Amino acid sequence: MSQIRLNHICKSYQGTDLAVKDFNLDIGEKEFIVFVGPSGCGKSTVLRMIAGLEEITSGELWMNGKLMNYEDPGKRNVSMVFQNYALYPHMSIYDNLAFSLAIRKVPKKEIKKRVTETARMLGLEQLLDRRPAQLSGGQKQRVAIGSAILREPNAFLMDEPLSNLDAKMRTQMRVEIAGLYNRLNTTFIYVTHDQTEAMTLGTRIVVLKEGVIQQVDTPQNLYDHP
Ligand code: ADP
Ligand code: ADP
Repeated sequence: MSQIRLNHICKSYQGTDLAVKDFNLDIGEKEFIVFVGPSGCGKSTVLRMIAGLEEITSGELWMNGKLMNYEDPGKRNVSMVFQNYALYPHMSIYDNLAFSLAIRKVPKKEIKKRVTETARMLGLEQLLDRRPAQLSGGQKQRVAIGSAILREPNAFLMDEPLSNLDAKMRTQMRVEIAGLYNRLNTTFIYVTHDQTEAMTLGTRIVVLKEGVIQQVDTPQNLYDHP
């Protein structure tokens, strides 16, 4: 059984043509799926529909055998990482990381242990007392990724997570995301317009153009038969 199934999904924003047309995809557990294609081709729209941030106009979204179209988005248990980080500006880095655990009433000692572990994994140990404004772009993105990890989702959704970073940091974070995928053993769905990110990160790549899937294949096959 696929973990996530998109069945004839279409999206029409108010008064526009279809932004996504008859999108069909089965995503297995622990795949690293990359949506790639030019700006405006519908990548974010599909991701946001999976996350429950955008209404599905028609078609079905299944997760673990359950139809999700009409379920509360909270039940999807996915974590989304955005291009612009979406951190709480008034809270310390520690509290940003701890937030999802605190609202689930995880005991403080347990929170401290897990926040510390995650901070260590992402090289954030020295920054826990700071606020987001005192961090570099790469550091903020690490906090966003750390918060996503601590939510223990069934799938990580990432929307152009590296596109606000400079070239050097982008390369470094790409390697770190590959490492995280190997370590966490969870499904990743990743949106980018960057071919290198797609080819190096994805186990399968979905090529989109004007809201329509053009190709779905492994990086190797796409490279051999572009
Ligand atoms: P991508 O992520 O590939 O850049 P998007 O999914 O953001 O593409 O956009 C797909 C299409 O839907 C584009 O034509 C875009 O203009 C349109 N679109 C995206 N968001 C909205 C919105 N909130 N309202 C109306 N049209 C939108
Ligand atoms: P308590 O001592 O009340 O049992 P904690 O020590 O777990 O609770 O955390 C109290 C607060 O101290 C947290 O909400 C957090 O803001 C801050 N805090 C805890 N550990 C750290 C840390 N390693 N770095 C920065 N702030 C921390």
